[in-house]
Amino acid sequence: MNTLARLDLEHIWHPFTQMREWLKREPIVIVEGRGSVLRDTRGREYLDANSSIWTNLHGHNHPNINRAIRRQLAKIAHCSALGLANEPASVLAAQLVNLATAGAVGRASPRAVERPRGSRGRSPHLAKVFFSDDGSTAVEVALKLAYEFTRRSGRSRQPRFLSVAGAYHGDTVGAVALGHIDLFHKRYSGLLFKTDEVMAPYCYRCPFNRAGPEREDAREYRKCRWECVSKVEQKFVSRKKRGNPYASFVFEPIMQGAAGMIPQPAGWLRQVTAIARSHGALLVADEVMTGFGRTGAPPSQISNLESQTLFACHHEGVRPDFLCVAKGMTGGYLPMAATLTTQEIFDAFLGEYEEFKTFFHGHSYTANPLGAAASLASLELLQSAESIRVRARLQEAMRRELQSLWSLPNVGDVRQTGLIAGIELVRDWRTREPLDLRERAGVRVCEAMARRGVLTRPVGNVIVLMPPYCTTPAQLRRMVGVMHASIDGCFNGR
Ligand code: PMP
Repeated sequence: MNTLARLDLEHIWHPFTQMREWLKREPIVIVEGRGSVLRDTRGREYLDANSSIWTNLHGHNHPNINRAIRRQLAKIAHCSALGLANEPASVLAAQLVNLATAGAVGRASPRAVERPRGSRGRSPHLAKVFFSDDGSTAVEVALKLAYEFTRRSGRSRQPRFLSVAGAYHGDTVGAVALGHIDLFHKRYSGLLFKTDEVMAPYCYRCPFNRAGPEREDAREYRKCRWECVSKVEQKFVSRKKRGNPYASFVFEPIMQGAAGMIPQPAGWLRQVTAIARSHGALLVADEVMTGFGRTGAPPSQISNLESQTLFACHHEGVRPDFLCVAKGMTGGYLPMAATLTTQEIFDAFLGEYEEFKTFFHGHSYTANPLGAAASLASLELLQSAESIRVRARLQEAMRRELQSLWSLPNVGDVRQTGLIAGIELVRDWRTREPLDLRERAGVRVCEAMARRGVLTRPVGNVIVLMPPYCTTPAQLRRMVGVMHASIDGCFNGR
């Protein structure tokens, strides 16, 4: 066995991994990456079909990001943000605010995001950036700020949060409290504070969708009366009747990731955020997965190769009070995250020193200069005309290639939003009968894909396709072809 593999088996405890299974076989040890290709210790090559757990944007070993990190490294790798400012983080904060408040990037002049009239005339404008380390900490920061802001502004002594069924917002205890995946979260209920959940707009499995299954994305042929939106309204109304309206509504805009790649039908986000606002709730948008171009162009704008939205909220003109970003911010190079918020929230923490209104929260590596330098290089790439064109083409190519999967009887739903796709495996597409998680269908398909040289991880029985933006048409075809063969092989013994 390879020495590195042996050391791993002896010493490393892997995330979200049943280690008894892990210890049974020699792991793939990655030593190099370039573009969408990863190479292991034996020289075998793999396509990175989930962008290294949804982090990588422009490909591995990108010369621009490498150069930016090297330049920064020659100056300083890290200095504390507790009491000091630093060069790349200051510039990055300004750029994040600009991008989060502009509707789109590209040659066509940016369409400013509408300013919705919220309750009490609040019209949030993201103005401040709190840096942290990863998606969980970005959400944790939003959670604590929203909680404390709500108490300070006298709206509630016990702020209560509403999030969406199946939500996953990270693994730190606060973020876990906002989550609703029993398998991950229930065991820790004794550690958590109470939050409420509201139905997700999961068209494929929606009890209100009266349409029978078809070989098309369920959002397209659904027959419903937006009952999922009414459910959100009902939640807000019933909370208000109890005298403690929701302080915050927490959501992943446009597509829920770890819930099973659940895309929202066009209009859901706009409607539910308007309801939340009309009840005075703060909007917390978790764009840890969806941010930085991942949700691509809305279908109506896909032919526009000139400009593109970078944040999912912008698809529906939503202006949140908190925008949490991480994963792709550094291009997938370094762990760094940010929570953007409004001047109004920021102002609530201003006071004389002895009033102790300070936000007592922070991490040792907050505003890390290397991460900030990588992020700046990534943002520059994202806004380039070339990258905008490449992303639009990749989105179209994904749509075309994914069509082939409909021919498989165990593929129930193929749902794509931008550069993210979820392929839901079922017992039989005609009945939508789900597969028992214990059958490990998703895991088995991904293991078969790995043997054929394509790496991704399932979310339960949903196979994820989320390629780096630099993926070529031939590489994409191979990713989908291997997925097809692996699903076929797993269910039909081929
Ligand atoms: N929010 C969302 C939407 C996520 O997808 C994730 C991670 N998959 C997180 C938060 C947590 O991010 P991290 O793993 O970087 O802590």
